[in-house]
Amino acid sequence: MTTAFVRVLDKDGMTAAPDKINLLGMSQDMLEQFFAERDEKPFRARQILQWVHQRGVIDFDEMTDLSKKLRERLHSDAEITLPTVQSRHDSSDGTVKWLFATDCGQAVETVFIPEPGRGTLCISSQVGCALDCAFCATGAQGFNRNLTSAEIIGQVFVANAELPRRENGEPAVTNVVFMGMGEPLANYRNVIPALKLLVSDWSYGLSRRRVTVSTSGLVPHLNKLGDECNVSLAVSLHAPNDALRDQIVPINKLHPIATLLDACWSYAAKHANRFVTFEYVMLRGVNDSLAHADELAELLDKKPAKVNLIPFNPFPGTAFKRSSTDTIQHFQNRLRQKGMVATTRKTRGDDIDAACGQLAGKVSDRVRNRLGDKTFGNRNIKVVSA
Ligand code: SAH
Ligand code: SF4
Repeated sequence: MTTAFVRVLDKDGMTAAPDKINLLGMSQDMLEQFFAERDEKPFRARQILQWVHQRGVIDFDEMTDLSKKLRERLHSDAEITLPTVQSRHDSSDGTVKWLFATDCGQAVETVFIPEPGRGTLCISSQVGCALDCAFCATGAQGFNRNLTSAEIIGQVFVANAELPRRENGEPAVTNVVFMGMGEPLANYRNVIPALKLLVSDWSYGLSRRRVTVSTSGLVPHLNKLGDECNVSLAVSLHAPNDALRDQIVPINKLHPIATLLDACWSYAAKHANRFVTFEYVMLRGVNDSLAHADELAELLDKKPAKVNLIPFNPFPGTAFKRSSTDTIQHFQNRLRQKGMVATTRKTRGDDIDAACGQLAGKVSDRVRNRLGDKTFGNRNIKVVSA
């Protein structure tokens, strides 16, 4: 049973008064409250979580350990509604991309990347993004609205439902990264229940090391996340100094590098042996010189940091170019010589526009960012439709 989202939603993806509550995106604490309000015991929440997220059952009538009376009550008060798959593309390298319809003709993207020993799902958290990083296809589209927690976790549900199980019988998705469309920390209230579902043993049961939030650096939310749900952290740094970062990651004007790094080290300190991964997109002639590598190494010296270099993925209308393979290699070598752990991300799925930063979905009716003028790159970019 799949039902399209046809209601008019506010910026958090909520209706003013939903006639039925969608249980799909509710974490254990939210479900316990739902059942308490109906004079039911807290263990009902665990039963629902297992049926839905572990067994993939979304019809209350198939939940055989719930009494008939309770099932009737659920039918009248609640629903389990999945996001609607608009299209699916399978890449020659095994990568799979789904386009999920949200509402009013908009869509977001989800990408599955199979690798030996693991299956990583890259999920979206917003329709578009307001943060307007100069090199990002999603940012070029502006922001439409936040995804609901059901739309966020629904991407994982659908991927596991559609993909074959692993050889050991476990679900296909072993790792989840919030690196699709949107800034997850700008949609904090809906991302948190989805994170809780991913790490709970009653639902997906993934270890915190296998769930990664990627952020361009919303410092206040980062501090809250560390306390509430300390999953793995990736930070989109992309520049080793404020002058350059202000231009390519405009949120830096609000939360400059020193403040951001302080928040990162406190985040890492909340769990022993935890590293922060710093993403660094390699833009030809912009941030890819050996002097930049030296500055970056100095910034992160003796800190619990790893650097992941991302070859820039072009999209229609951008003025940026990818650094050459040699430049990326030299940059990585220089970081390693300085004692850093540095890797380069392998580009996957680019034949179906599923590589990092190519996720454009369909975003119209967008609001522009409020961070001021764009001073870098070519932002007269057409909306890319998938
Ligand atoms: N908003 C979050 C997560 C989504 S973007 C963030 O910015 O971290 C996921 C990653 O893709 C980020 O590191 C982002 O900087 C990078 N990215 C964006 N556009 C890209 C492009 N065109 N090529 C390569 N990486 C890109
Ligand atoms: Fe938004 Fe991330 Fe793209 Fe920046 S890189 S515009 S924060 S999605």
